Amino acid sequence: MAWNKLRRTVEGRLIKVESPLAVCQKEPNGGPCQEVLKRVKNPYYLGDQPGLTQTSGWVDAWISAPSVYAVAATTTEDVVAAVKFARAHNLRLVVKGGGHSYKGASSSADSLLIWTRAMNNIVLHEAFVAQGCEGKQTPQPAVTMGAGAIWMQAYNAVTTKAGRYVQGGGCSTVGVAGLVQSGGFGSFSKNYGTAAAALLEAEIVTADGKAQTANACVNPDLFWGIKGGGGGSLGVVTKLTLRTRELPEFFGGAFGTIKARSNAAFRRLTARIVSFYHEQLFNRHWGEQITFEPANKIRISMVFQGLDRQQADRVFRPFMDWVTKSPEDFVIEKRLKVIDIPARHFWDAAYMKKNHPQFIVADNRLNAPEGNVFWAGDGSQVGFFLHGYRSAWLPASLLKQDQQSKLADALFASSRHWGVSLHFNKGLAGASADDLAAARDTAMNPAVLDAFALAIIATGGPAAFPGIPGGAPDLTVARRHAHEINNAMDELLKVTTNPGSYVSESDFFERSWQESFWGSNYPRLAAVKKNYDPAGLFFVHQGVGSEKWSADGFTRLEGR
Ligand SMILES: Cc1cc2nc3c(=O)[nH]c(=O)nc-3n(C[C@H](O)[C@H](O)[C@H](O)COP(=O)(O)OP(=O)(O)OC[C@H]3O[C@@H](n4cnc5c(N)ncnc54)[C@H](O)[C@@H]3O)c2cc1C
Repeated sequence: MAWNKLRRTVEGRLIKVESPLAVCQKEPNGGPCQEVLKRVKNPYYLGDQPGLTQTSGWVDAWISAPSVYAVAATTTEDVVAAVKFARAHNLRLVVKGGGHSYKGASSSADSLLIWTRAMNNIVLHEAFVAQGCEGKQTPQPAVTMGAGAIWMQAYNAVTTKAGRYVQGGGCSTVGVAGLVQSGGFGSFSKNYGTAAAALLEAEIVTADGKAQTANACVNPDLFWGIKGGGGGSLGVVTKLTLRTRELPEFFGGAFGTIKARSNAAFRRLTARIVSFYHEQLFNRHWGEQITFEPANKIRISMVFQGLDRQQADRVFRPFMDWVTKSPEDFVIEKRLKVIDIPARHFWDAAYMKKNHPQFIVADNRLNAPEGNVFWAGDGSQVGFFLHGYRSAWLPASLLKQDQQSKLADALFASSRHWGVSLHFNKGLAGASADDLAAARDTAMNPAVLDAFALAIIATGGPAAFPGIPGGAPDLTVARRHAHEINNAMDELLKVTTNPGSYVSESDFFERSWQESFWGSNYPRLAAVKKNYDPAGLFFVHQGVGSEKWSADGFTRLEGR
């Protein structure tokens, strides 16, 4: 009866959710099941299923589970109706945009899902001023996006079509609302800062069922909270406006692999690349990763902006010459390849398919839009089942000459257990004063401002959605990997105390998550939560205020 009323209010957009893999439980060898199995490696397919998520689970942490019902929202009014309904009936509520939460924050059995996928309208502005900020803010170019848009759609509209830049995610199928509320890094964040820092205004439906505007002038505390305070905790964002910026002429990348012939040579290589990074790459041009692997390999997977291929090549030359001079110590397994791409074509699906097909994978469904592509490098993560995921912001002080050897020792020791990736674009040290100031005015842990990189140590196995025939993960292997990842992080953490880590790319089992993700900002964030959601309608694992709830978010703990 009540559900029927909700269905009428949302004009039929209340749907019963079932995992597409249910067909496999009935008939594992049947055609429909085989068809689904082919598709679970496609992030666009996963995103189009209200019953699936981009990560299938995490050992001993969570497993993807469909909600019972979903409101497939197309308007703010749909979201308002769903929020009011969940509050009135005391339901466990889940919000999903791009579905990329590693921690299952957009998945819960026995819940009502607000699914924003269809709210993906994108509008560009030449001179945007936030509501109520007239006379206080200089008009500036911006883009307004529905909360269900993903970054590929944003880049297509802003960069490919309009020749501008918007700070979003590196992974092109991540949702805009989830990423902005995480803080949000892209490959070029050393130059453009975080996505949250670029937010000018949002519309958000709060627990009282009201659609509110939040910006620097209206509801400024809520505005601050959604800038990096974590998705799914303060309300349902329905649209966001982000500033846009000028594009450089080129984006590009440098990729290569070097193997050391002995442990001693690898320690030397590690020290050398740390000092090379400090001297040549620690600036606004360079982002992405260098990985230190147990097999004594260093994988370079760096991207740049504002340089061309020749300039980038010259930057790397002294380091590569140093490596080449010692063939007795080092083997160049993959020669350094440096490429550049006109910035306007970086996310241009047609251009990339024609000129750099090796970097992208297309949505292979019949009639898929031409623009549905994703980076080949993100392919291994589609649907994957996590074994372990740890991260830590490494302070820039570790790059000082007298600290470098300590850092190299820690990287070496850590890499004996597992591969350690330094994501340089996920620490803001080296960014401009303006971008640092904008990021300081967000809810993220201020440790991000002084970090030269986010170190990530993680791994996972193939998709393990419930219902995949024979797809149960090997839990023994998964737990062994988790153990080694923890050992690797323990070694790295010997060089830094309380480093903090990034809410969206960090440990499900982090105990002091309040301190780790938000640091000194947590009390202020908790006050925003109390103000806008005192009863705790919005719950996510490790979200602000979640300490008052049982792990599954169904039961309020007594006395809290
Ligand atoms: C393969 C992969 C690559 C990634 N790459 C990057 C990267 O390059 N840079 C980076 O910074 N992060 C990255 N992340 C992390 C990612 O940014 C976060 O997980 C982000 O929260 C995902 O947003 P989403 O909308 O896709 O996910 P969802 O799972 O849909 O949502 C994530 C969280 O936000 C909430 N949420 C979603 N929409 C709304 C809304 N409209 N209103 C309120 N709450 C909402 C959800 O409830 C959930 O708690 C990556 C994750 C994956 C799996």
